[in-house]
Formats: sequence, C-alpha cells, structure tokens
Amino acid sequence: MVEALHTPIAYLKGIGPEKAALLKKELNIETYWDMLQHFPFRYIDRSKIMFCRSIPESEGYVQLVGFIDSIQELGVGRSKRLQCRFTDDTGSLQLVWFQGWRWIKPSLVPGKKYRIFGRPRLNGAFWSIAHPELSPADDATNVGFQPVYSSTEKLSAKGLHSRGIEKLIRGLLEKIDWSQLPDTIPEELRTKLGLYPVESAIKSMHSPHSEHDASEAKRRLVFEELFHMQLEMLLRKGVRKRNEKGYEFTKTGEHLREFYHHQLPFDLTNAQKKVVREIHQDMKSGEPMNRLLQGDVGSGKTLVALISMLIAQGNGFQAALMAPTEILANQHYETISSLLQDLPIRIALLTGSVKRSLRKPMLEGLKSGEISFLIGTHALLEDEVQFSSLGLVVIDEQHRFGVAQRAKMRLKSTLSPHVLVMTATPIPRTLAMTFYGDLEVSIIDELPPGRKPIQTMHRFESHRAQLYQFMREQISLGRQVYVVYPLIEESETLDFKSLEDGYRSITESFPSPEYNVSMVHGKLPPEEKDREMRRFVAGETQIMVATTVIEVGVNVPNASVMIIESAQRFGLSQLHQLRGRVGRGAEKSYCILMTDYELSKESKKRMDTMVETNDGFKIAEVDLRLRGPGDLMGTQQSGALNLRIADLSKDQTFVVLAREEALELYNRDPRLTGPSLIALRQYMISLFNNKPQWDKIG
Ligand code: ADP
Ligand code: MG
Repeated sequence: MVEALHTPIAYLKGIGPEKAALLKKELNIETYWDMLQHFPFRYIDRSKIMFCRSIPESEGYVQLVGFIDSIQELGVGRSKRLQCRFTDDTGSLQLVWFQGWRWIKPSLVPGKKYRIFGRPRLNGAFWSIAHPELSPADDATNVGFQPVYSSTEKLSAKGLHSRGIEKLIRGLLEKIDWSQLPDTIPEELRTKLGLYPVESAIKSMHSPHSEHDASEAKRRLVFEELFHMQLEMLLRKGVRKRNEKGYEFTKTGEHLREFYHHQLPFDLTNAQKKVVREIHQDMKSGEPMNRLLQGDVGSGKTLVALISMLIAQGNGFQAALMAPTEILANQHYETISSLLQDLPIRIALLTGSVKRSLRKPMLEGLKSGEISFLIGTHALLEDEVQFSSLGLVVIDEQHRFGVAQRAKMRLKSTLSPHVLVMTATPIPRTLAMTFYGDLEVSIIDELPPGRKPIQTMHRFESHRAQLYQFMREQISLGRQVYVVYPLIEESETLDFKSLEDGYRSITESFPSPEYNVSMVHGKLPPEEKDREMRRFVAGETQIMVATTVIEVGVNVPNASVMIIESAQRFGLSQLHQLRGRVGRGAEKSYCILMTDYELSKESKKRMDTMVETNDGFKIAEVDLRLRGPGDLMGTQQSGALNLRIADLSKDQTFVVLAREEALELYNRDPRLTGPSLIALRQYMISLFNNKPQWDKIG
C-alpha cells in the first residue's frame, strides 16, 4: 500500500488532534486508509426527482424540486407549528415543522428554488411532509446516492455524524493519488470475474451513481477480502508443509489387517471407508497430516480414529486419543479396549483422576513404548507425559481444544506427529473453509445403516402430564430417558435451582423403588459424576437428569428419549448435539423440546428447524444464518472474524468462489512470482511480516 495512505487522519483538512483521537477511540480509524475503509452501510436514493402530482401511494422517501410560498405559523403553545406550501410544475403539497421551526423560518425564502427530501403522508386529500430536508436546488452534494455512515453520539456531537463523515471522505477521495494504489487482485482475475478495479470500487462504495454501481463496488471488495484470506491460509499451509517433515506410514501392519478383516463388528459405511482412505493417504505422504474429520453425531468417528491409530501402531508408532471430558475418555477407552480385546495391543487410560501409584508405571510404559495407545483428557498434555515414539494424535471434539493444545501435543514427538481432529459439530462448508482453511477436511456424510430417524416434538408446560405418561410407557418398554436442563454461566445459581426443582419433580412423579433417577451436573465431584453416569450406562437408573455435561459424545444405546427443558435457551447446534445422545440403538427414539409459550421469532425458528430435520449440516446452516459465524465458532477463533466488509453468513457463495480462485492461483504459482502478482505478493508479505514464519513465503 502506498505510504500516503498511512498518513494519520489528523492531517486531513477539517480534523485536528482532538477529532482524530475521537475517531480512533470510537471507530478505530487512524489513517487515511482506515477512513477510506469506513464504508457506508446503506444509501439514500436521491437520484430521482418526483412530482407533486405523481407521488407514489406506497410510502417512502421522495425528492422534489420547487418553490416555497405562503409560510404560516399555526397553533399556540405546544401545538405551535410552521407550515408552508411547496409547489412544483405539477401541483403542490404541504411542508410542516413541529420543532425547530424558529431556526428554519428565517432560512425559508419565498420564490427561491429548493430541493426537498422527506417522507410524504396523506393528510386528508393533501400530501404533507413533516420535517423535510431542505437544500438549494443547485446544491450538488445532495444528488445521486447519498451514503449513510455509522457514527456515534460523541462523534456526532463534534460534527462527525454521517453527513460530516461523508464530507471528510469526499475530500479524501479527491486528495489521493490513485495511480499509486496498486490493485491486489490480479488483472486477469478481475477480467475473468468482471470485478471493478480497486480505485473504482472504493470510489463507488462512497459515492455510487446507481444501485448497481454500489453493489458492483461491494462485490469487488467482498471478493477481495475473502480472496486474501483464503490465499493467506493456503500460503500458511504451504510454509508449514515445506518446513515440517512427517512420518511416513507406508505399512499396513498385521494387527490392522487382522482387525479390519476379522474383528470389525460391522461393515464400514462408504463414508467411513472414504475417510479412512483419505487419512491413510495423508499418513503415508511424508508430510504431517493435519486433518479435520467432520461427522454428525453417531456417524461412527470413533472407529475411524481407531483404524488410524492402528495404522500408526502397524508402523511401529504410538497413538494418543484426547477427549474433552473424563466421561468421554472413559467411554473411548472402554469401546476401544473391547474392540481390540483379542489383539496384543496395550492401551492405557490417563485422566486427572488416575492415582499417582497407577500413573507411574503407566508413564514408564509410555516412555518405553510398551503402551501403544494412550487415551485420556487434557491430562495428556502434561509435561511428564512422554512417549517413546508418538506418531498420531487424535483429538475428539475440536471446539474444546485450542490451537495451543494441538501445538503442545505436537511437541511430544521428534517430527510432527500426524494430527486428526474430530468434530461432531457440523460446520457449514463455507465456514470450514474460513476457519479451518489450513486443515484438510474429511466429511462422514452418512450414518450407519438401520438407524431410525429421531422423532422430535415441541411441547409446552401444559403437556407435562402427558409427557410423564409417555416417559412411563417408554420406561416400561425397557428404555431410558434423559432430562436435560440448561446451564448458562451468567445465571448459574438460577439454573442450578431449576435443575434441582426438576430433579425433585421427577423423583416425585417417578418414585423409587419402581424408578431410579440419576443426576449429573458440573458441581458434582468427578467420582460421583462418574458413579451416577455408570449407573445409568449400566441400566440401574432409568432416568438421567442432567445439565449439558452429557452433551458431548456419551453413548448409551438403550436411552431412547431425550427431553430438553427450557429448550429455547439452547443454541441450535447444542440442541442437535443433545438430540444425538439418543437414536443410537435399534429402538425408535424421541426428542422432546419443552419451552415457554412466549417464544421469540428466533427461538421459534430453532424449535421448528429441530422438528423438521435431523440433518446436522442443514441445522448448522440455519444456525449460521440465525447467529452469525462468531457465536457459532466461539470466541477462540474469532481472529478469523476480523472481516471488514464480507459477511460470512450472507456471502457464502463468495467464500466458495474466493476459495476456488485462491486455490487455482496458488496451485499455478505458489510463490506468487508472476509479473501480474507483484502487488498481491507485496500485500501478502506485509501480512506475513506481522506473524512468525510468514516471511518465508518468498
Ligand atoms: P460419533 O461419530 O458420534 O463419535 P460413534 O463413533 O460413537 O459416533 O458411533 C456411534 C455408534 O455407531 C456406535 O455405537 C458404533 O459402534 C456404531 N457404528 C459405527 N460405525 C458403524 C458401522 N459402520 N455400522 C454400524 N454401526 C456403526
Ligand atoms: Mg464421538
């Protein structure tokens, strides 16, 4: 970018140090460039001039040109007002001021030609416009499309309201030497996609001459932003690949062969097979794998993880599987141990609650290499956990582990181990491209055969008696039931009360000894939580009252009813996760969403979506539209959300396009050395310079 654009905004005519400081504080505008990037959020169409006789019936703003006559002051006291007649070649209408008329009046000159702008209302048979904007007919600043800028109260008080900002930017646009602003989108790409050059785009954003012009300008800038972002990720990935050598796992190994051909309890689904192939390909490539495995709840990710671990084992390496909760780690340990029971592979479970005395031999076994698979929680990250040869790290449920934790696991191995991250939160494709653009993505888009779709219903408090009756019926058929309460940090005590009240009400309606009820929540000590969980898993209790601690991964195939209390307080993805706890066995399963009668439009949409579909990807799409990408991805990755102009929920087609084009360019010229890429390359290097490693693209 040209030097001149880094000029502090204080140097701009009309802005001194004080306003500059305020602009920085309120809108984070520091330089000329920042100012240019402060784009209008809408426009007022002042391109057309209407006539008094043909004002459209549908309400809206109109602009007229004509004369003022017969200025009158009417009424007394509070109802005092200024009224005048406005006439053009076709007829007349009324202008009225209820306030501020004392100041307006002197500026009204009968016989002078004015341009007025306002919203007409029919007053009897007469059109009338209250508080119109008024300017001399030949004032050129008010024609065409007028941009509307966001501002703040403090800025407005200093004259930097939308109009003030508009004026500043107008001045700035004239001042800039555009020939010095290089276009970071190569010309051939602009031609191919019909995109504005950078100069026209910025100018037309601020003062478009038509609606089309404004939308073309925006199209260019949205594309530019997403294109840069995608290219940045590709370059980053390229740097990593060039700098990191990985283990080459070319062997299949006898245990994997034995397991795959003789011990698999069922055939893999086609989707599982496809994903296993993709993983295998990565692991033998000689570069460290960095793969995100997405698959809806119940799609069988665990088995894919296990096969990957067996690949590592077959090549003489160890594998670690890390889960976000102790319950889940236990469950993985049990599942995997039982699947591998006939094979001589040593598996260990390490969680926070493993006692010292057991821990020591375990750590030794890891270091010596006797233990092949280590399954556990965050405890795996501790420094004392050292491997003899760690070749693969599987991380279950990505969103609870940050990049930092992934990096820490990487350090436990001489070369970078292969990393497989699994998530059951389906992420819309466009978001995955944006957030995990530096990871390869595999998708399991098929559930194992024989699953019956879960029937979802939305019910209110008045149905409670029927609900309990339904629970009794299901329990008498031998099934188990979850009842989940929200737990949101801000009102933990309140939530806790609702959980306890709920538990009491359930135990009253489902008394022992006929029924047994478990309760699990975040405040229980781990041992007790575990015990309660185990009782439910073993079928000793029929009802599990819980907070969302059961959300992730828990597998109790006999549980076929999920009741979610105050369901309006959960996000869509979370509801879908919870629902995924049932429908894991052969029985028909149900999910019942209990809510208040009064629901916001958004809550209603969430409930309806849940009732309509079981498809996690569809749900994620709706969630993205309802909540926007920030809430969907959590704050952890919010860095990727510093988008100035693109909107990930609205501009999804652009994300795909930008991805394709960035990839095409990158594959053709990974170091951006082409003569038409000079500006783009400069820009990318400037980005890289702020972050470690990035200078290495050259
Ligand atoms: P998730 O993807 O949610 O982690 P799991 O790995 O827990 O799913 O698998 C859910 C259930 O589906 C498990 O009980 C598992 O044994 C079963 N399963 C996995 N793959 C298959 C398959 N190919 N055919 C039949 N059942 C399968
Ligand atoms: Mg799982």
